[in-house]
Amino acid sequence: MVKYLQIKSTDASILEKAENGGAVTSILKSLLELKTVEGVLNIKKGNDVYDGIPTYTTNPDDLINTAGSLHCAPTMISDIVARYLKDEVIAVTTKPCDAMAIDEIMKRSGINRDNVFMIGLNCGGTVRPTVAEEMIRLFYDIDPETVVSEEINKGSFIVELEDGTEKSVKIDDLEDEGYGRRENCQRCELKVPRKADIACGNWGSSKGYTFVEINTPKGEKIVQDAIDNGYIEVKEPSEKQIKIRSKVENIMIKMAKKTQKKQLNTEANEFDVFTRCLKCYRCRDVCPVCNCKVCSLEKPYFNENSNEKPDPLLMHGVRMGHMSFSCVNCGQCEDVCPMEIPLAKIYQRVQLKYREETGYVSGVTTEKPMIYSGDKEEIVE
Ligand SMILES: Cc1cc2nc3c(=O)[nH]c(=O)nc-3n(C[C@H](O)[C@H](O)[C@H](O)COP(=O)(O)OP(=O)(O)OC[C@H]3O[C@@H](n4cnc5c(N)ncnc54)[C@H](O)[C@@H]3O)c2cc1C
Ligand code: SF4
Ligand code: SF4
Ligand code: SF4
Repeated sequence: MVKYLQIKSTDASILEKAENGGAVTSILKSLLELKTVEGVLNIKKGNDVYDGIPTYTTNPDDLINTAGSLHCAPTMISDIVARYLKDEVIAVTTKPCDAMAIDEIMKRSGINRDNVFMIGLNCGGTVRPTVAEEMIRLFYDIDPETVVSEEINKGSFIVELEDGTEKSVKIDDLEDEGYGRRENCQRCELKVPRKADIACGNWGSSKGYTFVEINTPKGEKIVQDAIDNGYIEVKEPSEKQIKIRSKVENIMIKMAKKTQKKQLNTEANEFDVFTRCLKCYRCRDVCPVCNCKVCSLEKPYFNENSNEKPDPLLMHGVRMGHMSFSCVNCGQCEDVCPMEIPLAKIYQRVQLKYREETGYVSGVTTEKPMIYSGDKEEIVE
Protein backbone atom coordinates (compact mmCIF):
# COMPACT_ATOMS: atom_id res chain seq x y z
CA MET A 1 0.00 0.00 0.00
CA VAL A 2 1.35 3.49 -0.89
CA LYS A 3 1.45 5.28 2.42
CA TYR A 4 1.73 8.91 1.31
CA LEU A 5 0.28 10.77 -1.67
CA GLN A 6 -0.11 14.35 -2.74
CA ILE A 7 -3.59 14.84 -4.10
CA LYS A 8 -5.20 17.56 -6.19
CA SER A 9 -8.83 17.85 -7.26
CA THR A 10 -9.59 17.75 -10.99
CA ASP A 11 -12.55 20.10 -10.41
CA ALA A 12 -11.65 23.80 -10.80
CA SER A 13 -14.58 25.01 -8.66
CA ILE A 14 -13.47 22.78 -5.76
CA LEU A 15 -9.86 23.92 -6.12
CA GLU A 16 -10.96 27.53 -5.89
CA LYS A 17 -12.74 27.05 -2.54
CA ALA A 18 -10.62 24.31 -0.99
CA GLU A 19 -8.09 24.82 1.77
CA ASN A 20 -5.29 23.00 -0.07
CA GLY A 21 -5.64 20.61 -3.03
CA GLY A 22 -9.35 19.92 -2.51
CA ALA A 23 -8.62 16.22 -1.87
CA VAL A 24 -11.16 16.04 0.94
CA THR A 25 -14.06 17.60 -0.96
CA SER A 26 -13.32 15.59 -4.11
CA ILE A 27 -13.06 12.27 -2.25
CA LEU A 28 -16.28 13.04 -0.36
CA LYS A 29 -17.96 13.80 -3.69
CA SER A 30 -16.72 10.56 -5.21
CA LEU A 31 -17.94 8.60 -2.20
CA LEU A 32 -21.45 10.01 -2.62
CA GLU A 33 -21.63 9.80 -6.42
CA LEU A 34 -20.20 6.28 -6.54
CA LYS A 35 -22.72 5.35 -3.82
CA THR A 36 -20.03 4.05 -1.46
CA VAL A 37 -21.77 6.08 1.28
CA GLU A 38 -25.33 7.27 1.82
CA GLY A 39 -24.37 10.63 3.30
CA VAL A 40 -21.58 12.97 4.34
CA LEU A 41 -21.21 14.71 7.70
CA ASN A 42 -18.81 17.66 7.77
CA ILE A 43 -18.67 21.37 8.61
CA LYS A 44 -19.77 24.39 6.62
CA LYS A 45 -19.28 28.09 7.16
CA GLY A 46 -22.34 29.83 8.62
CA ASN A 47 -22.77 33.61 8.76
CA ASP A 48 -19.05 34.28 9.21
CA VAL A 49 -15.69 32.57 9.79
CA TYR A 50 -16.49 32.14 13.51
CA ASP A 51 -19.53 30.04 12.77
CA GLY A 52 -18.86 26.39 11.83
CA ILE A 53 -22.04 24.41 11.35
CA PRO A 54 -22.12 20.60 11.29
CA THR A 55 -23.98 19.59 8.16
CA TYR A 56 -25.24 16.28 6.80
CA THR A 57 -25.97 15.86 3.12
CA THR A 58 -26.83 13.14 0.65
CA ASN A 59 -26.49 15.53 -2.32
CA PRO A 60 -22.98 15.72 -3.89
CA ASP A 61 -23.72 19.23 -5.22
CA ASP A 62 -23.93 20.55 -1.62
CA LEU A 63 -20.31 19.64 -0.92
CA ILE A 64 -18.86 22.68 -2.65
CA ASN A 65 -20.34 24.77 0.19
CA THR A 66 -18.29 22.84 2.75
CA ALA A 67 -14.82 23.18 1.17
CA GLY A 68 -12.16 24.97 3.25
CA SER A 69 -10.93 24.68 6.86
CA LEU A 70 -12.56 26.49 9.76
CA HIS A 71 -10.10 26.98 12.61
CA CYS A 72 -12.66 28.73 14.82
CA ALA A 73 -14.99 25.70 14.78
CA PRO A 74 -14.05 23.48 17.74
CA THR A 75 -17.10 21.39 16.90
CA MET A 76 -17.23 17.76 18.03
CA ILE A 77 -18.73 15.55 15.37
CA SER A 78 -18.61 12.09 16.93
CA ASP A 79 -21.65 12.58 19.14
CA ILE A 80 -23.75 13.36 16.07
CA VAL A 81 -22.64 10.09 14.46
CA ALA A 82 -23.43 8.06 17.59
CA ARG A 83 -26.77 9.68 18.28
CA TYR A 84 -28.27 10.21 14.84
CA LEU A 85 -26.34 8.43 12.09
CA LYS A 86 -25.24 5.09 13.48
CA ASP A 87 -27.51 3.14 11.12
CA GLU A 88 -26.32 4.94 7.97
CA VAL A 89 -23.19 4.32 5.92
CA ILE A 90 -21.45 7.68 6.04
CA ALA A 91 -18.25 9.61 5.45
CA VAL A 92 -17.23 12.11 8.11
CA THR A 93 -14.41 14.65 8.33
CA THR A 94 -12.51 14.17 11.57
CA LYS A 95 -9.93 16.18 13.41
CA PRO A 96 -7.77 13.90 15.60
CA CYS A 97 -10.02 14.42 18.65
CA ASP A 98 -13.12 13.55 16.57
CA ALA A 99 -11.38 10.40 15.32
CA MET A 100 -10.30 9.43 18.84
CA ALA A 101 -13.81 9.91 20.21
CA ILE A 102 -15.34 7.91 17.36
CA ASP A 103 -12.79 5.17 18.03
CA GLU A 104 -13.73 5.07 21.73
CA ILE A 105 -17.44 4.86 20.83
CA MET A 106 -16.69 2.09 18.31
CA LYS A 107 -14.93 0.12 21.05
CA ARG A 108 -18.12 0.40 23.10
CA SER A 109 -20.14 -0.88 20.11
CA GLY A 110 -21.94 2.46 19.74
CA ILE A 111 -20.89 2.85 16.10
CA ASN A 112 -20.19 0.10 13.58
CA ARG A 113 -16.66 0.53 12.19
CA ASP A 114 -17.73 -0.74 8.74
CA ASN A 115 -20.37 2.00 8.42
CA VAL A 116 -18.06 4.97 8.84
CA PHE A 117 -15.43 6.30 6.44
CA MET A 118 -13.25 8.67 8.43
CA ILE A 119 -11.64 11.41 6.32
CA GLY A 120 -9.11 12.75 8.79
CA LEU A 121 -7.71 16.28 8.99
CA ASN A 122 -4.38 16.95 10.65
CA CYS A 123 -4.89 19.53 13.35
CA GLY A 124 -2.71 22.20 14.92
CA GLY A 125 -5.61 23.48 17.02
CA THR A 126 -8.86 25.42 17.13
CA VAL A 127 -9.73 28.83 18.55
CA ARG A 128 -12.96 29.51 20.45
CA PRO A 129 -15.13 31.77 18.26
CA THR A 130 -15.63 34.43 20.96
CA VAL A 131 -11.92 34.43 21.78
CA ALA A 132 -11.10 34.78 18.07
CA GLU A 133 -13.34 37.84 17.72
CA GLU A 134 -11.88 39.48 20.82
CA MET A 135 -8.26 38.83 19.85
CA ILE A 136 -8.82 40.11 16.32
CA ARG A 137 -10.16 43.34 17.80
CA LEU A 138 -7.26 43.63 20.26
CA PHE A 139 -4.21 42.33 18.38
CA TYR A 140 -5.12 43.02 14.76
CA ASP A 141 -6.93 46.26 15.47
CA ILE A 142 -9.75 45.45 13.07
CA ASP A 143 -13.46 44.77 13.22
CA PRO A 144 -13.82 40.93 13.31
CA GLU A 145 -16.86 41.24 11.04
CA THR A 146 -14.62 42.43 8.19
CA VAL A 147 -12.67 39.14 8.17
CA VAL A 148 -13.59 36.99 5.16
CA SER A 149 -11.23 34.09 5.79
CA GLU A 150 -8.67 32.88 8.31
CA GLU A 151 -5.86 30.36 8.32
CA ILE A 152 -3.16 29.04 10.61
CA ASN A 153 0.15 28.92 8.75
CA LYS A 154 3.78 28.66 9.86
CA GLY A 155 2.97 29.45 13.48
CA SER A 156 0.76 32.49 12.76
CA PHE A 157 -2.98 33.11 12.79
CA ILE A 158 -3.66 34.99 9.55
CA VAL A 159 -6.84 36.84 8.64
CA GLU A 160 -7.91 38.10 5.24
CA LEU A 161 -10.07 41.22 4.98
CA GLU A 162 -12.83 42.20 2.55
CA ASP A 163 -10.36 44.33 0.53
CA GLY A 164 -7.96 41.38 0.04
CA THR A 165 -5.32 42.54 2.55
CA GLU A 166 -3.96 40.13 5.17
CA LYS A 167 -2.93 40.60 8.79
CA SER A 168 -0.95 38.08 10.75
CA VAL A 169 0.10 37.62 14.40
CA LYS A 170 2.32 34.85 15.82
CA ILE A 171 0.30 32.26 17.73
CA ASP A 172 2.91 32.20 20.51
CA ASP A 173 2.39 35.94 21.06
CA LEU A 174 -1.39 35.47 21.20
CA GLU A 175 -1.11 32.54 23.60
CA ASP A 176 1.32 34.34 25.90
CA GLU A 177 -1.50 36.85 26.44
CA GLY A 178 -4.17 34.17 27.05
CA TYR A 179 -5.62 34.17 23.50
CA GLY A 180 -5.02 31.88 20.50
CA ARG A 181 -5.83 28.18 20.50
CA ARG A 182 -7.97 26.60 23.21
CA GLU A 183 -5.87 25.40 26.15
CA ASN A 184 -6.70 21.74 25.50
CA CYS A 185 -5.50 22.19 21.89
CA GLN A 186 -2.23 23.62 23.16
CA ARG A 187 -1.81 20.37 25.15
CA CYS A 188 -3.05 18.08 22.37
CA GLU A 189 -0.36 15.67 21.20
CA LEU A 190 -2.27 13.84 18.46
CA LYS A 191 -1.73 15.93 15.36
CA VAL A 192 -2.33 13.35 12.62
CA PRO A 193 -5.51 11.27 12.96
CA ARG A 194 -4.12 7.81 12.16
CA LYS A 195 -7.31 6.08 13.30
CA ALA A 196 -9.03 7.76 10.33
CA ASP A 197 -8.95 5.94 6.98
CA ILE A 198 -6.90 8.76 5.49
CA ALA A 199 -5.26 11.77 7.17
CA CYS A 200 -5.11 14.99 5.13
CA GLY A 201 -3.04 18.09 5.69
CA ASN A 202 -0.70 20.70 4.30
CA TRP A 203 2.55 19.96 6.13
CA GLY A 204 5.20 19.02 3.55
CA SER A 205 2.90 19.33 0.53
CA SER A 206 3.61 21.02 -2.81
CA LYS A 207 1.60 24.20 -3.40
CA GLY A 208 -1.95 23.38 -4.51
CA TYR A 209 -1.87 19.79 -3.22
CA THR A 210 -3.17 18.06 -0.11
CA PHE A 211 -0.69 15.75 1.62
CA VAL A 212 -2.54 12.51 2.35
CA GLU A 213 -1.48 9.63 4.59
CA ILE A 214 -3.34 6.41 3.88
CA ASN A 215 -3.99 4.49 7.08
CA THR A 216 -6.32 1.61 6.26
CA PRO A 217 -7.29 -0.69 3.36
CA LYS A 218 -10.62 1.20 3.30
CA GLY A 219 -8.66 4.43 2.87
CA GLU A 220 -6.60 2.94 0.07
CA LYS A 221 -9.74 1.82 -1.77
CA ILE A 222 -11.54 5.15 -1.59
CA VAL A 223 -8.47 7.01 -2.88
CA GLN A 224 -8.05 4.50 -5.71
CA ASP A 225 -11.77 4.77 -6.63
CA ALA A 226 -11.46 8.57 -6.75
CA ILE A 227 -8.40 8.29 -9.04
CA ASP A 228 -10.01 5.68 -11.31
CA ASN A 229 -13.13 7.80 -11.74
CA GLY A 230 -11.28 11.04 -12.49
CA TYR A 231 -12.07 13.00 -9.29
CA ILE A 232 -8.44 13.52 -8.27
CA GLU A 233 -4.91 13.44 -9.64
CA VAL A 234 -2.00 12.29 -7.52
CA LYS A 235 1.78 12.41 -7.29
CA GLU A 236 4.10 10.87 -4.76
CA PRO A 237 5.84 13.19 -2.30
CA SER A 238 9.64 13.26 -2.26
CA GLU A 239 11.62 11.86 0.68
CA LYS A 240 12.38 15.46 1.65
CA GLN A 241 8.67 16.36 1.80
CA ILE A 242 7.91 13.31 3.95
CA LYS A 243 10.73 14.32 6.30
CA ILE A 244 9.48 17.92 6.55
CA ARG A 245 6.00 16.71 7.46
CA SER A 246 7.33 14.37 10.09
CA LYS A 247 9.61 17.08 11.50
CA VAL A 248 6.73 19.55 11.90
CA GLU A 249 4.56 16.87 13.50
CA ASN A 250 7.31 16.04 16.00
CA ILE A 251 7.84 19.71 16.86
CA MET A 252 4.10 20.09 17.52
CA ILE A 253 4.08 17.00 19.75
CA LYS A 254 7.07 18.29 21.73
CA MET A 255 5.39 21.67 22.21
CA ALA A 256 2.19 19.95 23.40
CA LYS A 257 4.08 17.86 25.96
CA LYS A 258 5.87 20.94 27.23
CA THR A 259 2.53 22.74 27.61
CA GLN A 260 1.04 19.72 29.39
CA LYS A 261 3.76 20.05 32.03
CA LYS A 262 3.14 23.78 32.35
CA GLN A 263 -0.67 23.72 32.42
CA LEU A 264 -1.35 20.49 34.29
CA ASN A 265 0.78 21.30 37.30
CA THR A 266 -1.12 24.34 38.48
CA GLU A 267 -3.36 24.78 41.49
CA ALA A 268 -6.32 25.30 39.18
CA ASN A 269 -6.51 21.52 38.88
CA GLU A 270 -7.28 20.94 42.54
CA PHE A 271 -10.57 19.18 43.09
CA ASP A 272 -11.94 21.96 45.32
CA VAL A 273 -12.92 23.82 42.12
CA PHE A 274 -15.83 21.37 41.92
CA THR A 275 -17.57 23.21 44.76
CA ARG A 276 -18.38 25.87 42.13
CA CYS A 277 -20.37 23.30 40.14
CA LEU A 278 -24.04 24.11 39.48
CA LYS A 279 -24.95 20.51 38.63
CA CYS A 280 -26.25 21.58 35.24
CA TYR A 281 -24.77 18.41 33.65
CA ARG A 282 -23.76 20.27 30.49
CA CYS A 283 -20.26 18.75 30.75
CA ARG A 284 -21.71 15.25 30.85
CA ASP A 285 -24.13 15.89 28.01
CA VAL A 286 -21.52 17.33 25.66
CA CYS A 287 -18.80 14.74 26.35
CA PRO A 288 -18.42 12.58 23.23
CA VAL A 289 -17.27 9.46 25.04
CA CYS A 290 -19.74 9.80 27.94
CA ASN A 291 -22.87 8.33 26.41
CA CYS A 292 -24.02 5.22 28.26
CA LYS A 293 -27.64 4.33 27.62
CA VAL A 294 -28.49 4.80 31.29
CA CYS A 295 -26.11 7.24 32.96
CA SER A 296 -24.99 6.07 36.39
CA LEU A 297 -25.93 9.52 37.71
CA GLU A 298 -29.57 8.84 36.79
CA LYS A 299 -29.69 5.50 38.58
CA PRO A 300 -32.17 5.22 41.49
CA TYR A 301 -29.53 4.80 44.21
CA PHE A 302 -28.47 8.38 43.64
CA ASN A 303 -31.93 9.88 44.11
CA GLU A 304 -33.85 7.32 46.16
CA ASN A 305 -35.15 9.80 48.70
CA SER A 306 -35.33 12.97 46.68
CA ASN A 307 -35.14 14.34 43.18
CA GLU A 308 -31.96 16.20 44.05
CA LYS A 309 -28.98 15.58 41.81
CA PRO A 310 -25.99 14.16 43.68
CA ASP A 311 -23.47 16.41 45.37
CA PRO A 312 -20.97 17.87 42.83
CA LEU A 313 -18.05 15.99 44.38
CA LEU A 314 -19.93 12.71 44.07
CA MET A 315 -21.07 13.58 40.54
CA HIS A 316 -17.55 14.36 39.36
CA GLY A 317 -16.23 11.31 41.22
CA VAL A 318 -18.59 9.16 39.14
CA ARG A 319 -17.57 10.93 35.95
CA MET A 320 -13.93 10.66 36.89
CA GLY A 321 -14.35 6.90 37.28
CA HIS A 322 -15.48 6.76 33.66
CA MET A 323 -13.30 9.48 32.15
CA SER A 324 -10.02 8.45 33.76
CA PHE A 325 -9.47 5.96 30.98
CA SER A 326 -11.66 7.49 28.23
CA CYS A 327 -10.98 11.23 28.07
CA VAL A 328 -9.67 12.29 24.64
CA ASN A 329 -8.95 15.88 25.74
CA CYS A 330 -11.39 17.34 23.21
CA GLY A 331 -12.12 20.29 25.53
CA GLN A 332 -15.88 20.32 24.94
CA CYS A 333 -16.72 20.05 28.67
CA GLU A 334 -14.54 23.04 29.51
CA ASP A 335 -16.00 25.05 26.62
CA VAL A 336 -19.57 24.68 27.90
CA CYS A 337 -19.10 24.93 31.68
CA PRO A 338 -20.86 28.11 32.88
CA MET A 339 -18.65 28.18 36.00
CA GLU A 340 -15.38 28.00 34.02
CA ILE A 341 -14.21 24.90 35.85
CA PRO A 342 -11.03 23.64 34.09
CA LEU A 343 -12.61 20.26 33.42
CA ALA A 344 -10.54 19.12 30.43
CA LYS A 345 -7.37 19.87 32.37
CA ILE A 346 -8.57 17.77 35.29
CA TYR A 347 -9.72 14.85 33.16
CA GLN A 348 -6.69 14.89 30.87
CA ARG A 349 -4.39 14.89 33.87
CA VAL A 350 -6.11 11.78 35.21
CA GLN A 351 -6.08 10.11 31.75
CA LEU A 352 -2.34 10.75 31.48
CA LYS A 353 -1.81 9.11 34.90
CA TYR A 354 -3.89 6.12 33.80
CA ARG A 355 -1.83 5.99 30.60
CA GLU A 356 1.37 6.02 32.62
CA GLU A 357 0.17 3.10 34.73
CA THR A 358 -1.44 0.94 32.02
CA GLY A 359 -0.16 2.17 28.65
CA TYR A 360 -3.77 2.74 27.54
CA VAL A 361 -4.15 5.79 25.26
CA SER A 362 -7.77 6.71 24.80
CA GLY A 363 -8.84 6.81 21.16
CA VAL A 364 -5.55 5.28 20.03
CA THR A 365 -5.02 1.91 21.76
CA THR A 366 -6.85 -0.79 19.81
CA GLU A 367 -7.95 -2.90 22.80
CA LYS A 368 -10.56 -1.87 25.34
CA PRO A 369 -9.31 -0.26 28.57
CA MET A 370 -8.48 -2.59 31.46
CA ILE A 371 -11.16 -1.34 33.85
CA TYR A 372 -13.84 -1.43 31.19
CA SER A 373 -17.37 -2.40 32.19
CA GLY A 374 -19.69 -4.26 29.82
CA ASP A 375 -22.44 -1.77 30.76
CA LYS A 376 -20.67 0.83 28.66
CA GLU A 377 -21.62 -1.10 25.53
CA GLU A 378 -25.10 0.30 25.97
CA ILE A 379 -24.86 3.52 24.07
CA VAL A 380 -27.62 6.11 24.14
CA GLU A 381 -30.39 5.72 21.54
C1 LIG B 1 -9.06 23.21 12.75
C2 LIG B 1 -8.11 22.66 11.71
C3 LIG B 1 -6.73 22.73 11.92
C4 LIG B 1 -5.85 22.21 10.97
N1 LIG B 1 -4.50 22.26 11.23
C5 LIG B 1 -3.63 21.67 10.34
C6 LIG B 1 -2.23 21.67 10.61
O1 LIG B 1 -1.76 22.22 11.60
N2 LIG B 1 -1.41 21.00 9.72
C7 LIG B 1 -1.91 20.38 8.60
O2 LIG B 1 -1.12 19.75 7.87
N3 LIG B 1 -3.21 20.41 8.32
C8 LIG B 1 -4.08 21.03 9.16
N4 LIG B 1 -5.43 21.05 8.88
C9 LIG B 1 -5.91 20.42 7.65
C10 LIG B 1 -5.92 21.37 6.46
O3 LIG B 1 -6.32 22.66 6.85
C11 LIG B 1 -6.90 20.89 5.37
O4 LIG B 1 -8.18 20.67 5.93
C12 LIG B 1 -6.44 19.60 4.72
O5 LIG B 1 -5.15 19.77 4.17
C13 LIG B 1 -7.40 19.20 3.59
O6 LIG B 1 -7.34 20.16 2.58
P1 LIG B 1 -8.29 20.01 1.33
O7 LIG B 1 -8.08 21.16 0.39
O8 LIG B 1 -8.12 18.63 0.78
O9 LIG B 1 -9.71 20.12 2.05
P2 LIG B 1 -11.06 20.75 1.49
O10 LIG B 1 -11.40 20.12 0.19
O11 LIG B 1 -11.01 22.22 1.57
O12 LIG B 1 -12.12 20.20 2.56
C14 LIG B 1 -12.01 20.54 3.92
C15 LIG B 1 -12.99 19.69 4.69
O13 LIG B 1 -12.79 19.91 6.08
C16 LIG B 1 -14.05 20.10 6.73
N5 LIG B 1 -13.81 20.97 7.90
C17 LIG B 1 -13.52 22.30 7.88
N6 LIG B 1 -13.35 22.74 9.14
C18 LIG B 1 -13.54 21.67 9.94
C19 LIG B 1 -13.53 21.50 11.36
N7 LIG B 1 -13.25 22.53 12.18
N8 LIG B 1 -13.78 20.27 11.88
C20 LIG B 1 -14.07 19.22 11.05
N9 LIG B 1 -14.12 19.33 9.69
C21 LIG B 1 -13.85 20.54 9.16
C22 LIG B 1 -14.91 20.76 5.68
O14 LIG B 1 -16.28 20.54 5.96
C23 LIG B 1 -14.44 20.04 4.40
O15 LIG B 1 -15.15 18.85 4.21
C24 LIG B 1 -6.34 21.62 9.78
C25 LIG B 1 -7.72 21.58 9.57
C26 LIG B 1 -8.61 22.10 10.51
C27 LIG B 1 -10.11 22.04 10.26
S1 SF4 C 1 -8.04 18.82 20.75
FE1 SF4 C 1 -6.40 18.38 19.25
S2 SF4 C 1 -7.45 17.53 17.50
FE2 SF4 C 1 -9.01 18.50 18.74
S3 SF4 C 1 -9.27 20.56 17.91
FE3 SF4 C 1 -7.72 20.68 19.54
S4 SF4 C 1 -5.71 20.38 18.55
FE4 SF4 C 1 -7.30 19.73 17.13
S1 SF4 D 1 -20.83 22.07 33.19
FE1 SF4 D 1 -19.74 22.94 34.96
S2 SF4 D 1 -21.36 23.65 36.33
FE2 SF4 D 1 -22.34 22.27 34.84
S3 SF4 D 1 -22.31 20.23 35.85
FE3 SF4 D 1 -20.42 20.38 34.60
S4 SF4 D 1 -18.86 21.17 36.01
FE4 SF4 D 1 -20.87 21.57 36.95
S1 SF4 E 1 -14.06 14.74 29.68
FE1 SF4 E 1 -14.12 16.70 28.55
S2 SF4 E 1 -12.20 16.74 27.44
FE2 SF4 E 1 -12.49 14.62 28.10
S3 SF4 E 1 -13.53 13.61 26.35
FE3 SF4 E 1 -15.14 14.35 27.75
S4 SF4 E 1 -15.71 16.41 26.97
FE4 SF4 E 1 -13.72 15.83 26.05
